[in-house]
Amino acid sequence: MNTILIIGAGGVSRVATTKCAMNSDIFENIVLASRTKSKCDEIASDIKRMYKIDIKTARVDADNVDELVALINDVKPKVVLNLALPYQDLTIMDACIKTKVDYIDTANYEHPDCAKFEYKLQWARDDEFKKAKIMGLLGSGFDPGVTNVFCAYAQQYLFDEINEVDILDCNAGDHGYPFATNFNPEINLREVSSKGRYWENGKWIETEPMEIKMVWNYPEIGPKDSYLLYHEELESLVKNIKGLKRIRFFMTFGQSYLTHMRCLENVGMLGIKPVNHKGMDIIPIEFLKTLLPDPASLGPRTKGKTNIGCFITGLKDGKKKRVYIYNVCDHEEAYKETLAQAVSYTTGVPAMIGAKMVMSKTWHKEGVFNMEEFDAKPFMDELNIQGLPWKILELDPNENFEIV
Ligand code: NDP
Repeated sequence: MNTILIIGAGGVSRVATTKCAMNSDIFENIVLASRTKSKCDEIASDIKRMYKIDIKTARVDADNVDELVALINDVKPKVVLNLALPYQDLTIMDACIKTKVDYIDTANYEHPDCAKFEYKLQWARDDEFKKAKIMGLLGSGFDPGVTNVFCAYAQQYLFDEINEVDILDCNAGDHGYPFATNFNPEINLREVSSKGRYWENGKWIETEPMEIKMVWNYPEIGPKDSYLLYHEELESLVKNIKGLKRIRFFMTFGQSYLTHMRCLENVGMLGIKPVNHKGMDIIPIEFLKTLLPDPASLGPRTKGKTNIGCFITGLKDGKKKRVYIYNVCDHEEAYKETLAQAVSYTTGVPAMIGAKMVMSKTWHKEGVFNMEEFDAKPFMDELNIQGLPWKILELDPNENFEIV
C-alpha cells in the first residue's frame, strides 16, 4: 500500500494533508504525526468531515531519531514528508537513512541557536542517501520549491541561457491584525530580520536588513514595496542554473509590519538567546510566538491575493528574452478548500506534489536533490491540476519593470 507519513501539524501540514486526501488514488494511506497529537486529530477530523477520507494520527518528537525510526518502522511509509520546522530536518533525514525511506521537505536546515540557514549539512547526507538507495527532495514548498521549478522550466523549455533572475514574493492579503506572521512567527522573523544577500558576477553581496527596496508592479495586484532578502533557493539555483549573472529575491512588506518588526527588534524581542526573567530562562522570540496570533487562526479572516513568481531574462535564438512566470493565489479560495490561508496553501500544495513526484517515481534518483534538478514539466502540469495554476507573461526585454 502507498503510505505517506507526514510530520508536523501546522498550517502547511493542514494543506498538504488535505491535498493528499484529495489525491487518495496515489496516497492510499495517510498517517499524520506531530509533537502535539491533538493538532493532528483536529486536521484529521476536518478532512473526514470535508472529504470523507480517514487519516491516522500519531505523536512523535521529531528531534529524537529513535522515536522517528520506531514510528517509521511501525507505519512503513513509502515517503516521509517533513512539515515540522527547519530544526528537525537533520533528525528526520537521519531516520529516513536508517529506515531506507524517501524524504521530502519544504525548508532548509537551521540550528535553533543560530539564525542562518544553508544546505551544507543536508547536501552532506547525499552519500548516505545513495548508500541507502533512497531519495531526498529538498525545498518542495513555493519559495523554495515552485520558484526553483519555474527557473528549471525556463532553463529547459524557454531559454538557451538564463542571465538574470528576480524571485518576487508578494502577499497582498489583509488579516486585519496590526501585526501577525503568515507562517511560523519564529522562522519568519528570523528570516526577515537577517542581513540581505544576493549573487552577482560570481560573488555574494551582503546588504543590511531591508536595505534595498524596489516597487514591483505585480500582475493582478498592482505596485507594492518589495525588499531584498536572502532566501534559501538562491544557494541551489546559483549552482544549477547555467549562465546566471545575477539572482535576487524580493518580498513585499507593509509599513505596519516593518514598523512593528523594527520596534520588536530594538527592544530585543527577536533575540534567540535565553534571557533570565525572575529566575526563569526565556528565549524572547519564542515568547513573542506565544503572544502573536497563531498563523492557523488567520485563515478565516484573510482576504486578498498572493503573487509569487520569477522574473527571468536571458537569451533565446541569439535574442534577448524576458518572462515573468507566476501564480496568483486567493486567500479566501484557499480557505474554502483547506481551512488555511494562501501562504500555507502555496506551500502545502507543492509539498504534496513533491511527495507525489517521488511516490510515483516520476522524479526518482538516489541521493539528495533540489527541485530544479528534475524535468520541470510534470511538476508544472500538476500545479495547474492541483490548485496553483501559473501564467507566463512575455515581456519586452528592453523595458525597465521595477518602478524604483
Ligand atoms: P507551524 O509552526 O504552523 O507548524 C509546525 C509544526 O511542526 C507544528 O505542528 C509543531 O508542533 C511541529 N513540530 C515542531 N517541532 C516538532 C518536533 N520536535 N516534533 C514533532 N513536531 C514538531 O509551521 P508552518 O506550518 O507554518 O510551517 C511548516 C514548515 O514549512 C516550516 O519548516 C516552514 O519553514 C516551512 N515553510 C516553507 C515555505 C516555502 O515556501 N518553502 C513557506 C512557508 C513555510 P506543535 O504544534 O507541538 O508546536
